[in-house]
Amino acid sequence: MADPRGFLKVRDRELPPNRPVEVRLRDWKDTHAHRQDGQPFLTEQASRCMDCGIPFCHQGCPLGNLIPEWNDLVRLGQWDDAIDRMHVTNNFPELTGRICPAPCESACVLGISQPPVTIKNIEVSIADAEFERGLVPQVPSRLTGTTIAVVGSGPAGLAAAQQLTRAGHTVVVYERDARIGGLLRYGIPDFKLEKHIIDRRLEQMEAEGTRFRPGVAIGTDITWDALRRRFDAVIVATGATVPRDLKLPGRELRGVHYAMDFLVPANQAVAGEPVAQDAPNAAGKNVIVIGGGDTGSDCVGTALRQGAASVTTLAIGKKPPVTRPDNQPWPTDPILFEVSTSHEEGGERTYLASTVEFLADDSGAVTGLKVAQTEYLPGGRREPRPGTERFIPADLVLIAMGFTGPETAELTEQTGVEITARGLPRRGDDFGTSLPGIYVAGDAGRGQSLVVWAIAEGRAVAAAVDARLRGATELPAPVGPRTVALRG
Ligand SMILES: Cc1cc2nc3c(=O)[nH]c(=O)nc-3n(C[C@H](O)[C@H](O)[C@H](O)COP(=O)(O)OP(=O)(O)OC[C@H]3O[C@@H](n4cnc5c(N)ncnc54)[C@H](O)[C@@H]3O)c2cc1C
Ligand code: SF4
Repeated sequence: MADPRGFLKVRDRELPPNRPVEVRLRDWKDTHAHRQDGQPFLTEQASRCMDCGIPFCHQGCPLGNLIPEWNDLVRLGQWDDAIDRMHVTNNFPELTGRICPAPCESACVLGISQPPVTIKNIEVSIADAEFERGLVPQVPSRLTGTTIAVVGSGPAGLAAAQQLTRAGHTVVVYERDARIGGLLRYGIPDFKLEKHIIDRRLEQMEAEGTRFRPGVAIGTDITWDALRRRFDAVIVATGATVPRDLKLPGRELRGVHYAMDFLVPANQAVAGEPVAQDAPNAAGKNVIVIGGGDTGSDCVGTALRQGAASVTTLAIGKKPPVTRPDNQPWPTDPILFEVSTSHEEGGERTYLASTVEFLADDSGAVTGLKVAQTEYLPGGRREPRPGTERFIPADLVLIAMGFTGPETAELTEQTGVEITARGLPRRGDDFGTSLPGIYVAGDAGRGQSLVVWAIAEGRAVAAAVDARLRGATELPAPVGPRTVALRG
């Protein structure tokens, strides 16, 4: 039972301070200084959770995390039990505690009248304490004799693989990249997620029995059809990797790249992996990032660390409000103006900026953008307003406008599985596709999303596959109906 007066005694929401900008811009380490257990700070913050009867926070969390329960266990200093409660719903709290945008905090009841409980920080502190104390659950299982291939090693594939390994199936994770981790490894920069956090989890999964096969592209190295014949079930967790383009005059110019063409080599360089010689680098350049989301913000932090001369982010839409607007009341997760750690570090942000054209010098290298003010037309359509054009100089332009869906050509060609506009369709509520034995989870099915959703879907698909293979399952399908209902 939580302290019902805790939030009255500790009124201030307090987070560990971020590392100073001038220090962190000189390295690639995590911008946050995460705090560990045993500190009064954390137990005090946990005591602000009032166990409010109907805890909307775990409704806001796509995993259905049992937040009030572990908050109270932290308040009482019962860390081992907090770790146990955490793992009832979440395979990788060390990831979500670092990089989840925390819709739980938007739904916190205390947030109606005071700043919400620091749920995410408490989550990462429990997760890190778990690794430091060697308390990561290692679930033994009796082998069932069934085999499952998971294609793609992002958070969806990893969560599915861990659940199914723990249920006793023989699970092989195939990944076309040189190393396991999906966007966690090659998309999200180290200053948000240091890669040793992934590595320690992979070691734990390997010890538990999950097998990893990096450097194998399904569809070319092994056909999808061969994989289907070889395994009892195949889970497609290949992500939504097709970038949205900006087809404007000058798009083909030298120096105009998709964000991932910049972020992947940047991550490889930080990891000491080989990097293509012609990979874009921001050192000394005027950089424009088109797109104001997570990917754009990661480009900003990366460009600043590489030594860009200037970084400007262009967003086509209006500047979001700073506080909850009336049409996004509690407990919804509102779209607000956010200052990410990268934005704290530098660069300019321009709203209502519609790119009209990429401009070049005689050699075909980009020199800048012609940009006009965005005009909203009836029906919400947005167009550049004539007569408002201006020139913004740039030597490197990064298109960070999101992703349209998964790459499905080989899968369709080799198996005939149906594709929808957004990605792979699922049949009913079981995460199956139009072909028996092929399942889909994460961004490959739901479109570009979040790590927390990928883990939730990985858990849900694991329960569906286990039930199909064994006739019934004891695996928790975390938020089953909620996962399905909210899946667009
Ligand atoms: C730059 C960036 C920053 C982000 N930041 C955040 C954040 O801070 N917080 C957050 O919650 N979310 C963030 N996201 C979103 C989040 O990373 C994704 O929603 C999540 O990783 C999706 O997980 P997934 O497992 O479905 O796919 P992915 O992580 O995309 O993994 C799919 C994997 O499948 C592999 N693959 C594809 N095809 C094949 C094939 N044929 N054979 C073998 N392997 C294959 C790919 O190489 C890839 O490794 C970010 C995304 C980007 C691009
Ligand atoms: S996973 Fe995200 S939404 Fe869920 S408790 Fe953690 S921070 Fe909150």
